[in-house]
Amino acid sequence: MVDLENKKRLTVSLQGDSLEWVDMMIEKHRFHNYQHAIDYCLAKVYEEEFARYKHINVYEDHATIYDELRSELVNVYFKENAWCEKCETQDCDHIRYSLSLPKIVEPLMKKGWIIVDGKVIKSITSEGF
Ligand SMILES: [Zn+2]
Repeated sequence: MVDLENKKRLTVSLQGDSLEWVDMMIEKHRFHNYQHAIDYCLAKVYEEEFARYKHINVYEDHATIYDELRSELVNVYFKENAWCEKCETQDCDHIRYSLSLPKIVEPLMKKGWIIVDGKVIKSITSEGF
C-alpha cells in the first residue's frame, strides 16, 4: 500500500509562454491537465536523452552502438548471424537494440535475413550489409 503521507512530491510553477502553451494544449485536448502535460514532456525527454543505448554508426559488416549504462561502445556484427563482440553471444540486449533499428534491419532483410522482434530467425552468410 502506498503511504500517501510520505510520498515524495514536488510542486512546480509554470509561467509565461510555458503556461500559455500548456493551457492551449489542454484546450485542444492534447493533454488532460497540467500533471499530464508535465508527465508527458518529462517522459519524452527521458526517452530521448536517457535511453540506455544510442546508435552510433553502421559499417560494412557491423554496427556500433553506445551503451550508456556501461559508458562504452559495443560492436554488433552481422556476418553468419548476429554477434555481439562485448557479450560474445548471438542474443543479448545490444543485438536486440540493433535489430530494432530500421537502418540495420532493412539492409539485412533485403539480403534474405528474417528478423522478428529483435531476433534473427534466419540469417544469410554474407559480408554484412
Ligand atoms: Zn551484447
